[in-house]
Amino acid sequence: MRSKLGLAVAGLLLIGGAATAEEKVLNLYSARHYQTDEALYSNFTKQTGIKINRIEGKEDELLERLKNEGANSPADVFLTVDAARLAKAHELGLFAPVQSKLLESRIPAHLRTDDWFSFSTRARVIVYNKGSVKAGDVQNYADLANPKLKGKFCSRSGSHPYNLSLMASVISHEGEAKAEQWAKGMVANFARAPKGGDTDQIKAVSAGECGVAVSNTYYVARLLRSTKPEEQKMMEKVGIVWPDQNGSGAHINVSGGGMLKTAPNKEAAVKFLEYLASDEAQRYFADGNNEWPAVSGIKISNPGLEAMGKFKADSLPVKNLAMYATKAQILFDRAGFK
Ligand code: FE
Repeated sequence: MRSKLGLAVAGLLLIGGAATAEEKVLNLYSARHYQTDEALYSNFTKQTGIKINRIEGKEDELLERLKNEGANSPADVFLTVDAARLAKAHELGLFAPVQSKLLESRIPAHLRTDDWFSFSTRARVIVYNKGSVKAGDVQNYADLANPKLKGKFCSRSGSHPYNLSLMASVISHEGEAKAEQWAKGMVANFARAPKGGDTDQIKAVSAGECGVAVSNTYYVARLLRSTKPEEQKMMEKVGIVWPDQNGSGAHINVSGGGMLKTAPNKEAAVKFLEYLASDEAQRYFADGNNEWPAVSGIKISNPGLEAMGKFKADSLPVKNLAMYATKAQILFDRAGFK
C-alpha cells in the first residue's frame, strides 16, 4: 500500500517537473563509496524529487578539485571523512554557514560547527598483540609513549589526518608541551618507520612484527565481521582496548560535510544535509562504513561494532580537532614522527 502511494506521488512530481521544465538537482561531491549509499541517495530523490548528480573521488583529490573550480564549481554539498579534512575545507573558505533548526536539534552540538556537520562517528582504538603485550600496559593513548613499549609501537604516517586529529585531541586535553613529549615517546618506541594504513598495522600486530598500534574502529569492525578464515584467524591474536576510559574517553573522529559557498542549488543542499540527519539516512550513512550515527538514539545492529563492546567516547567538540590540526602537524614534525 505504502509503496503504491509512493509511486503515485513520484509520478505526479515527474509530471510537475516536466511542466515547469525545471528539474530539481543536487550536485554532490563525495569521498564516500559504500554499498549502502545507493539506497541513501535514491531515498532522498524519492522523498524530495531532487535528483542527485554524484561525483565520487578520493578525499584530497575532491578538495583539490573544489579549490581549482573556485566560484565556477557546480558542487552544492561536499562530503568527506576526518575532522582535519573538514577543517581544511573550512579554512579554504569553501563552506557556507547553514542555519537549520533541524540540524541543530538532531546533530549534537559537539559534532557540528557553523558550516559543517558530522553525520557519523568512528573511534581510534588501541590494538595489541595478545602474546607480546599486556592489555594493562596499553590502557591509554599516553601509554604508547611509555619506554616499556620500546621497539613495539607501529603506526601509519604522522601526517595522516587520522593521526593529526588524534594529536589535535591530545593537544586540546593536555596542552602542547605534553603532546610533544607524547609524540617523542612514541617515536622512541617505533618498531619500524611509519608506513601503510590502519589495516596494515593490525596485520603487523597480529603477525607479531609490532606489539601495539592504533586503528579506526571501522577497520577493526570490518575484520571482526570478515568471513575469510585467514582474517578470522588474524583477529584471534589481536586484543582491542578502548583508550582513556578513566579519563576523557576514546578519541572520536567523524565523517561529515557541508554546503559549499558557491552552491548553485542552495535550497536543495540544505534539504539534503537535513535528510542526512534523518533516522533512516543515519542508519545507511553509519552502517555503510561500520560507523556510529551522529544522531543519538538511533538503533543499529552491526555485529562488528557489537563485538567490540561498549565504551566511553570523548565528547571534545570537533571544532577543537579542527583548531589544532595544523599545530598537530608541527608537533609531529618536531618529534620526527614522519
Ligand atoms: Fe579510513
